[in-house]
Amino acid sequence: MGLNILANRLDKGFYMYQAELEEAALRVLRSGWYINGKEVKSFEAEFASYTKAKYCVGLASGLDALWISFRLLNIGAGDEVIVQANAYIACVMGITMNGATPVFVEPDEYFNLDIAKIEAAITPKTKAILVVHLYGQASNMPEIMIIAKKHNLYVVEDCAQAHGAYFGKTMCGNFGDIGCFSFYPSKNLGAFGDAGAIITNDEDLAEQFRVFRNYGSEKRYYNKVVGTNSRLDELQAALLRIRLKHLDELNDERKKLCDYYLTHLVNPLIELPKIAANAGAVWHQFVIRVKERAKLIKYLEHNGIGSIIHYPIPPHLSEAYAFLGHEKGSFPITEEYADTVLSLPLYNGMGLDEIEYVVKAINEYGA
Ligand SMILES: *Cc1c(COP(=O)(O)O)cnc(C)c1O
Repeated sequence: MGLNILANRLDKGFYMYQAELEEAALRVLRSGWYINGKEVKSFEAEFASYTKAKYCVGLASGLDALWISFRLLNIGAGDEVIVQANAYIACVMGITMNGATPVFVEPDEYFNLDIAKIEAAITPKTKAILVVHLYGQASNMPEIMIIAKKHNLYVVEDCAQAHGAYFGKTMCGNFGDIGCFSFYPSKNLGAFGDAGAIITNDEDLAEQFRVFRNYGSEKRYYNKVVGTNSRLDELQAALLRIRLKHLDELNDERKKLCDYYLTHLVNPLIELPKIAANAGAVWHQFVIRVKERAKLIKYLEHNGIGSIIHYPIPPHLSEAYAFLGHEKGSFPITEEYADTVLSLPLYNGMGLDEIEYVVKAINEYGA
């Protein structure tokens, strides 16, 4: 009675709201207006309201949200940005695309930036901290903001895996200067193509993003600054508006699935994810740790169960960042995570029979 369970699948998330999504797509297709129109404006207003930020500016991707943030904060060559060493590589590219240098800090037991290690990484060149709320788990932002204020540093939050996550009562993306979001299809709030956005409570900064994303122009053919093309399109915005209406229920469904994993997975060979006090997690991934990972992956495959490693190579050991000159062993906790983390199947529309099957297989593993 082998089931076949993918690590992730997006089709079910579409069929859950098929009629609404198709209606929205057709509305845009028939409107004759595809870029910078009322869907983008409405989505921005609705997403700002959802996150309780004053402003939201739609962009073309999460990476754009990151690099444009550092560009507008005037962070470039000669400047340093602190980031957790186990971040996704896009986080680091957002820093280096502007010529700034990433300064890596080891993660804590929740896979987020280890706050106790931030101050040792601060130098006179440090300009900002990039906080990545990894796997949907909120970082302890009040503590990070105290350090940032003390050293006069900007704080950019990468919320690409944390749509709707909060710390205490505050939604992620609102603590620092800018909150960056990706709406890549597999994110908790996913588009049907590439899309991203920033949120901020700084009116001037919001305006700068609006100008920069559109070739530096406020008024057609009058260009104030050298900008870029990073526009969110009407089709994605319209589809995102539907998904946003359902985001809380989508996140609740993920939480129920992960609660099921947390209460039913029992195997001494695997370590379950921990949730920090006061952190509202939105479970972008359910990440376990296991020593002989390749063996478990093979066993799961044999049972028709997919799994993914987020991420097998930490940025400091990636070929792309060989020029930074970090040796293997320089961030042992990060490297240990890269060797042991494994994301179990998790997606909206995952059935109880499916998660029961995965749990049963893992509980029987190695026994
Ligand atoms: C997905 C992701 C990004 C990049 O977003 P794109 O839309 O793919 O450019 C950045 N940071 C994190 C943490 C992500 O998960």
